[in-house]
Amino acid sequence: MKETDIKFLEDSFKKYYFEHSDLIRVPERSSEREFGYQKFNSGMTRHISIKDDKELHLLFMQNIPSDVYCSNAYYSFPNLPMNEKDWKEADLIFDIDAKDLNLSCRENHTVSICNECNQVSKNSERCLKCSSTKIEKKSLPCKNCIDSSKTEVSKLSEVLIDDLAVSKENIHVYFSGNEGFHVYVYDSQFQQIGSRERSELTDYISFRGAIPETFGMKKFKPNRSSFPDFDENGWKGRFSKQVFGTKSKRSKIISELISNGYSSFQKTLDDVSQNIGVKIDPNVTMDIHRIFRLPGSINSKSGLTKIFCKDLTKFDPYNDASFLSDDSIEVFANCPIEFKLKNKKFGLYTNEKVTIPIFAAVYMICKKLATIA
Ligand SMILES: [Zn+2]
Ligand SMILES: [Zn+2]
Repeated sequence: MKETDIKFLEDSFKKYYFEHSDLIRVPERSSEREFGYQKFNSGMTRHISIKDDKELHLLFMQNIPSDVYCSNAYYSFPNLPMNEKDWKEADLIFDIDAKDLNLSCRENHTVSICNECNQVSKNSERCLKCSSTKIEKKSLPCKNCIDSSKTEVSKLSEVLIDDLAVSKENIHVYFSGNEGFHVYVYDSQFQQIGSRERSELTDYISFRGAIPETFGMKKFKPNRSSFPDFDENGWKGRFSKQVFGTKSKRSKIISELISNGYSSFQKTLDDVSQNIGVKIDPNVTMDIHRIFRLPGSINSKSGLTKIFCKDLTKFDPYNDASFLSDDSIEVFANCPIEFKLKNKKFGLYTNEKVTIPIFAAVYMICKKLATIA
């Protein structure tokens, strides 16, 4: 990234950190957590301990970070190297990202940026100008991406509450600042479980690795009465609703399942997993030493803020997570896709000088689709 662009992003971020310090708070039990940050064009600094909001604000104002992170784990000594930290427990955490949902809209709002000649084109594997295959892809997620991610968050909450005895008040949903949501679960029965158990938990939540026997099917002489019913708890009930559709069809479909045989049933389970399993990133949940973007901080992939969603249904990231200045700035823009921020439409721009609000300029510069004029 060019020096002038970095300077512009740092100035814009700094203004936000200064004016919105009320949004930047340490989480509970802050002194037991590990913090880390990145500056523009530089590596990660981590293993930092921060005890209160004052120290946190100092970190923001002194370093003007591009991204700030905090652990979901609690340690005795968060600022020591990993093997000396003494891990105590960790909040359960889930990452739901539109890029993992196989949405058909995605190719319509993906751009390819050539690393050789900076040519920007709509989703392609090869630069249209110099034919280079050194392509960096950026997505400008649409409403469908956000709505589909919200659906996954609701499915996840349902499984956590109904099957895993998590209380609703302990589930906190945050917009990640780019393409999805981070779901935190506090004070659950799972605080102290390790990586392997967390991995098993993600299998359960995403309905992966289910075996036919659990759902009544056997290799030899399956028994009709052991197939799940509509009012059963957990995945048995969800399986029934998905596979049988209605109560009246249940008996007929069980006959079909039995006559199709065991391996076909396994395929049915895989289809159910694809359709109603919750699409979470298992690697994120099972990593018990990770640091996550800090709520209230800006995501440098977009210039939007990672923010708590009070009402997920009404939440609109392109209004509710955009906090940067409305002042105007002149940029060279090359943006082949329209986008909307704060109820204003921007794009398309083809190698042209435009004067736009800072919040939109930051969004495009973060996506490498504009540069300061
Ligand atoms: Zn090129
Ligand atoms: Zn989309």
